Amino acid sequence: MTTHEQELRERVRALCAEWDYTPRVDSWIGGYDPEFSRELARRGLLARTWPKHLGGAEDSNIARLAITEELLRAGAPVSAHWLGERQIGPELIRHGTPALQEEFCPRLAAAEIGFALGMSEPDAGSDLAAVRTTATPDGAGWRISGRKIWTSGAHVATHLYVLARSSKEDDKHAGLTEFIVERTAPGVTVRPIIGMEGEHHFNEVTFDEVWTPGHWVIGQVGNGWQQVVGQLAFERGGPERFLSMYPLLKAVLDAGGVLGAEDRSRLHALMARLMVLRTWARETALAMDAGYSPVVEAATGKYLGNRFELDCIEFVRELLPRCDAGIHRMYWEATLASPKSGIRGGAAPVMLSMIAKGSK
Ligand SMILES: Cc1cc2nc3c(=O)[nH]c(=O)nc-3n(C[C@H](O)[C@H](O)[C@H](O)COP(=O)(O)OP(=O)(O)OC[C@H]3O[C@@H](n4cnc5c(N)ncnc54)[C@H](O)[C@@H]3O)c2cc1C
Repeated sequence: MTTHEQELRERVRALCAEWDYTPRVDSWIGGYDPEFSRELARRGLLARTWPKHLGGAEDSNIARLAITEELLRAGAPVSAHWLGERQIGPELIRHGTPALQEEFCPRLAAAEIGFALGMSEPDAGSDLAAVRTTATPDGAGWRISGRKIWTSGAHVATHLYVLARSSKEDDKHAGLTEFIVERTAPGVTVRPIIGMEGEHHFNEVTFDEVWTPGHWVIGQVGNGWQQVVGQLAFERGGPERFLSMYPLLKAVLDAGGVLGAEDRSRLHALMARLMVLRTWARETALAMDAGYSPVVEAATGKYLGNRFELDCIEFVRELLPRCDAGIHRMYWEATLASPKSGIRGGAAPVMLSMIAKGSK
């Protein structure tokens, strides 16, 4: 690890130490504190890889990884900026016009705005190319109609990323386009879907003839499939795929006297797997730095990371009689969140199929 990475890690640790929050598992989905996100931005810890004129630091994905690992490790409240910083900013930088980049990236980098991802639909999840939401040209813009589901954070986002069908083609992968839509635009309705843990982070979002300006198209009209596949590497390739449950493991490690000799040897086996996953995340970040979109590698890490997280929860389950109320709380949060990890960002069997085929 370079001194630069170490310095970034220490800056994140310093902010987490002085911030008033309760560490939680799955904090990139459920830990919402926009002021924390803005403070990260003020301290230069967001959008590190983006060009300077767009609010970034022209740093590497390896440097960004140092920051994201520390935030997840600390269970910090990062969901306000996570999706926009992780994938919409990079998507705009790769495919957006300079004007679109300048309109959105600096505000994303400052955590002044936030995005939710409108990809999945009731009949288009694993088979994302089956989206039926339509976009029809109308004057200087487009009218969008349809229904998105499982849209994390749409109730707090300022903007929505929407994958929609802009023309009907024989090949379902053709005729898709990526749009930006204002979340409060007339015709957008956001309805909550409450998870089994009792939390509201999912939504159903309906679009009833919603108008969005033509210059808010990301990239080329009709090229949405090629673009979204590249975006999924950013979505699946990060440490949130194996560190979402880490605060639970950390709480056990920090609590003295919980681990017996046999538990320690099981813990060592888990730690060895964690090292492998961290190496994978590093390799994925290096591939991104080299300009490559590591779609299959990201699917592999997501699959293995999910297995690792489930085994961490199982490990803690057997220790519970010796654990305090704080660990019990986190264990239940983790258990109730655990079915989601193997589905969000692509279901586990679909990841296996992609790995086997070597492509999406
Ligand atoms: C916590 C969480 C957050 C999410 N956030 C968002 C979000 O912000 N935005 C968004 O757009 N979506 C989001 N999603 C939706 C997510 O991307 C989809 O749930 C996922 O892609 C699976 O699609 P589906 O639910 O339609 O399941 P389906 O596609 O109906 O699949 C159901 C099951 O069938 C099996 N299966 C399906 N196809 C195959 C295949 N080809 N090969 C083998 N097995 C298969 C799998 O076991 C799969 O779990 C989120 C989901 C979760 C759980």
